[in-house]
Amino acid sequence: SPVIGVLALQGDVREHALALAEADAVARPVRRPEELAEIDALVIPGGESTTMSKLALIFGLMDPLRARVAAGMPVYGSCAGMIMLADKILDGRDDQQSVGGIDMTVRRNAFGRQNESFEQDVDFRGLDGGPVHGIFIRAPWVESVGEGVEVLADLGDQRIVAVRQRNLLATSFHPELSGDSRVHRYFVDMVRDAG
Ligand code: GLN
Repeated sequence: SPVIGVLALQGDVREHALALAEADAVARPVRRPEELAEIDALVIPGGESTTMSKLALIFGLMDPLRARVAAGMPVYGSCAGMIMLADKILDGRDDQQSVGGIDMTVRRNAFGRQNESFEQDVDFRGLDGGPVHGIFIRAPWVESVGEGVEVLADLGDQRIVAVRQRNLLATSFHPELSGDSRVHRYFVDMVRDAG
């Protein structure tokens, strides 16, 4: 089974580890650059992207993360993790950095006050078994994507909520909170194909 790290600086690390185990991967927390060197792939969890960005810089992980992404390591980011994978962030904090890698512009907290948190079924292209139950918590959306980015799900009106570019996968919502491991399985399959 592939060994998949979960970036454990902040956020819902445990829920991702459980979903990965259910999808037949071995999950490991990653906090230090040395731990990053020992994994086949990585999940960046949901949480707060400004805090995650700050901690990644403090822990000396930002550049090693960028290097591994550039070298083709598969990464899946949910919610704050999606923001961390975006080449461009709108409504981020001034000093907020991302790892980047997906040629997309993501708007932070995009759904606004009325709709800060909601649940909605999402048609996820390429997943069998019907729609995914999307849990959105102060979620971002993807406002635009470059040519190499495949849109896997949207809510209409160009509110893109799942994308893939080569070995990188991102969702606005939190499948790790839904008890449905199909998105994690999709990612584990990506990891197997990449290896
Ligand atoms: N609003 C958070 C951020 O900006 C993301 C929320 C989440 O991950 N549930 O990072």
